[in-house]
Amino acid sequence: MDKEVEGIILYETPFQESSKIIQVLTKEYGLIGILCRGVLKPKSKFRCKLNKFSRVNFNLIYRENKLGILVSADVIDNYSYLRSDIILISYLTYLCELTYQVAKQSNSPKLYDTLIIALEKINNKLDPLVITNMLEIKYLDYLGIKLEFDKCVVCHSSNNILTLNSELGGVICQNCYIDGPIVNKKTISMIKRYYYFDLKKITSIDVSEVVKKEINNFLTNYYEKYTGLYTKSKYFLNTLIK
Ligand SMILES: [Zn+2]
Repeated sequence: MDKEVEGIILYETPFQESSKIIQVLTKEYGLIGILCRGVLKPKSKFRCKLNKFSRVNFNLIYRENKLGILVSADVIDNYSYLRSDIILISYLTYLCELTYQVAKQSNSPKLYDTLIIALEKINNKLDPLVITNMLEIKYLDYLGIKLEFDKCVVCHSSNNILTLNSELGGVICQNCYIDGPIVNKKTISMIKRYYYFDLKKITSIDVSEVVKKEINNFLTNYYEKYTGLYTKSKYFLNTLIK
């Protein structure tokens, strides 16, 4: 039976001569694979509609635990603003790749809304680095490796918190500190807010460059060490925004 499904294309692989299989994060079913027959033929009317990272309304033959089969597709948004410059397209690529990896580990239906809201915020010209870091923090819940921002990761005291420590996964107090960078006080309170903020409600962002950089460094190191999801696209992004 045909079904209407809304989703964003996160990954694609060519299949046979003129077809492709796309991996789509959907609102309804989480991550699903869809076989798109003949869409690479020059005359296919879906050829230009099924680009990676586009948000699409699909009509498909849905089969549980099997590839869906494309019937038709209508683009909701192809994020043209985000494809307009190298830095923005790097954010788009990274966020979609990261979400694909997270969805493979935890197929929560909430992931779709979280990604779409983040992309809309960047599309509305909010700071892409802040939005990206917020998403990275929120995804840690799905990966089961939450950070600790309230109590020292060593002695569990909430007094005299000194800095962030990516090796230990959270904040550390003055007594337990041995070495490593000491971040701005503001960075510690801000990273906590990144975690608790409702992405949907953000309309403006006011974070200093120093705090932004310290939070991004901390998250980059933490992802690299603990998630196995440190992607080439984040590395590339970091070299661009240095
Ligand atoms: Zn301590």
